[in-house]
Amino acid sequence: MPGPLSIPFFSIAPQHEPLREQVLAAVARVYDSAWYVLGDEVVAFEQEYAAFNRVPHAVGVANGLDALALALRALGVGPGDEVLVPSNTYIATWLAVMHVGARPVPVEPDPATSNLDPARLAGAITPRTRAIMPVHLYGQACRMPEIMQVAQQYGLHVVEDNAQAQGAAFGGQLTGSFGALNATSFYPGKNLGALGDAGGLTTADAGLAAQVRALRNYGSARKYHNDFIGYNSRLDELQAAVLRVKLGHLQAWTAQRQQLAAWYGQHLAGIAGLRLPAVAPGATHVYHLYVVHTPRRDALQQHLAARGIGTLIHYPVPPHRQPAYAGLGWAAGALPIAEDLAATCLSLPLWPGMTEEQVAAVAAAIRQF
Ligand SMILES: *Cc1c(COP(=O)(O)O)cnc(C)c1O
Repeated sequence: MPGPLSIPFFSIAPQHEPLREQVLAAVARVYDSAWYVLGDEVVAFEQEYAAFNRVPHAVGVANGLDALALALRALGVGPGDEVLVPSNTYIATWLAVMHVGARPVPVEPDPATSNLDPARLAGAITPRTRAIMPVHLYGQACRMPEIMQVAQQYGLHVVEDNAQAQGAAFGGQLTGSFGALNATSFYPGKNLGALGDAGGLTTADAGLAAQVRALRNYGSARKYHNDFIGYNSRLDELQAAVLRVKLGHLQAWTAQRQQLAAWYGQHLAGIAGLRLPAVAPGATHVYHLYVVHTPRRDALQQHLAARGIGTLIHYPVPPHRQPAYAGLGWAAGALPIAEDLAATCLSLPLWPGMTEEQVAAVAAAIRQF
């Protein structure tokens, strides 16, 4: 039955419609400049994103996966090395490790927050471990001070995967500013999204910034002089120009996401069997996704779909159970927290511009379940 409601999982229109003239003017500016790769727009966006993230340097690249892989490459992580990754992350975190020839070693999360559990790190460290890649999953900052302390104790690099958490913080310090070199994604559906693929890195280290700038551009700091075995992973001028317009609104959009999450918290309170997102003391959450957990997840998703309410599952299969990683030898049941979270998680509709009435309608439909 098509119900009276129709609430999509996500809508970009409320963010994009008010910016239409500004974004199209930015596109026209690049069109008329006749300069499309690594020009003034990328330089300006890098400066503006670095300022937003309160770090000295930002580097634009082609996408978030490349940003993660370039960070590992610049830090010298490669074949024979191990990198600690969350067992319940998006596949890109693991892929980046494998793309540099290293081995992803999964660490189980704190089931309450779905974020890396710092207490489990030490047990996964071997003489081959080179780095830790915390992922600020769903938009909540990981417990970075504890993670940094373990990294320091064992002499490991930290590369944050900040694709979902631009503007989140722990203890007042922004995500993307803790690790040596940190990656983010400007995929269109992220909290700060381009009109296509785009990504970036943030760092306090001028040498590492220069190195990833060279790596993204054929390993070349000077045209036709190649210092490293590089890549072609450049941020387009067009995407940089669009991102500059949208960056100015990110804080307001984040505030809206947080307001929507607060409304969900009020309207969903006290429903038996439904676990709402928990935020760790000291952390902020920018709600890239609003994820609830229930053992009857599939039935709830169908119930909501029948009422015209869109939901998604982030993510239905943990990386170690993906056919692509069968070669790593992880059996079913090997990482039970990740497997349980994957079986019970459901992402509810949330986008800047969504109304409290829509949140209440989603919550009412869940209450009927
Ligand atoms: C989106 C995402 C990425 C990858 O970003 P792309 O730009 O799509 O390559 C990496 N890690 C996480 C956690 C993500 O959500």
